[in-house]
Amino acid sequence: MSEDANLMEKIVSLCKRRGFVFPSSEIYGGFAAVYDFGPLGVELENNIKQAWWKTMVHDREDVVGLDSAIFMLPKVWEASGHVSGFSDPLTECKKCHSRHRVDHMLEAVGVFADEKMNQEEVQKIFDENLDKLECPKCKAKDFTPVRKFNLLVQSNLGNFTGDWTKEPVYLRGETCQGIYVNYKNVLDSMHVKVPFGIAQIGKAFRNEITARQFIFRTREFEQMEMQYFVHPDDAMKYYDQWKERRMQFYVDLGIKPENLQWHKHENLVFYAKEAYDIEYNYPFGWKELEGVHARGDYDLTQHAEHSKQKLEYMDQEKNEKYVPHVVETSAGVARTLLAVLCEAYNEEEVEGDTRVVLKLHPKLAPYKIAVLPLSKKDELIEPAREILLGLKKIYNVDFDITQSIGKRYRRQDEIGTPYCITVDFDSLEDKAVTVRDRDTMKQERIAISDLETYFAEKLS
Ligand SMILES: [Zn+2]
Repeated sequence: MSEDANLMEKIVSLCKRRGFVFPSSEIYGGFAAVYDFGPLGVELENNIKQAWWKTMVHDREDVVGLDSAIFMLPKVWEASGHVSGFSDPLTECKKCHSRHRVDHMLEAVGVFADEKMNQEEVQKIFDENLDKLECPKCKAKDFTPVRKFNLLVQSNLGNFTGDWTKEPVYLRGETCQGIYVNYKNVLDSMHVKVPFGIAQIGKAFRNEITARQFIFRTREFEQMEMQYFVHPDDAMKYYDQWKERRMQFYVDLGIKPENLQWHKHENLVFYAKEAYDIEYNYPFGWKELEGVHARGDYDLTQHAEHSKQKLEYMDQEKNEKYVPHVVETSAGVARTLLAVLCEAYNEEEVEGDTRVVLKLHPKLAPYKIAVLPLSKKDELIEPAREILLGLKKIYNVDFDITQSIGKRYRRQDEIGTPYCITVDFDSLEDKAVTVRDRDTMKQERIAISDLETYFAEKLS
């Protein structure tokens, strides 16, 4: 087994053991390509989403938030092109009859096929690269024509006819369509002027055929998307700015720059002006973490046409009317979570023992502090709980009294808690506690009355 495959196994195991990620419906044998986030996973997710929202909405004067419904009128998905075109291209090996995703086969030889390309477009690229392609299973080079399989998940919401499959309602395949159909509402209700953005975090659903690599590709997932509406002449200027900002976001989460790279889309869908992915160096290779796309005026034009509504912007000062172009930034919560876990995972030799430690950025750590009374005796539990309740007003703090202090330190290391406070019998005399730093394992004695100031400095 390669070292990287090994690392992935260790992370999957830690996620389960320590309450970050559980397989869905596990007591019934599990549900493929769906995962549940456990008590620590949901904290890490929330911290990632909070960091994104702060950067994208609260830190800015030109971006507002939105929470649109998962369900929309099916017409939205017809206008966006998803009903006819949002699909995975499949081919079958004529020799061994295994089925493969054409875009993944192409990706393996360095050719990119956009998910919104139609069957003919993908077939053309497939044919052009046929000499480089072979069946991933049996190495044969004989394939059936490319066939597209639609990714939209269907439902019977609001349909009581008994045969809803004829007129299905879709679970959204991406969150950004909710932004496009609310563009006019935001324009009319808020004092926004182009350039401005609308940001949204929410669930999306795709009927993925091959769902693999743990939480990297799942059928239900959460997106963090922002659509930035700009004057057509300024599109590329703002595109470059957002590219820079979005890369910095991951560095600010503690990801090393050498584990991040740009990947340019070579074969663009016809309406896209430019598209880059931010890729992370996962244990299973460089894969997309976020897409930053210059989408032109395609989305608003499509919705204007299909809804018969005017979705133009009127610039009062210049007396100019136009359909804004869109710069999109599209990230996944679970992909970010997996990237920060891979980045944070460390094994260190300590006194002949292996210490597993998640060196998470403090702002992402599920617990910022753990309070550990040295003994279960009431005389220590009481002052320890007092410290816990005081700090809990400001931070998410864990309280652990089981097992030896050494084992409790290891457990907190494994879940990435930056600081442990040990309350011992000396604490009763000197009114001080031992604070241990996760990364350096250095311990220092801090007066209980100084703890708030101490952590304000350390965790700011
Ligand atoms: Zn084959």
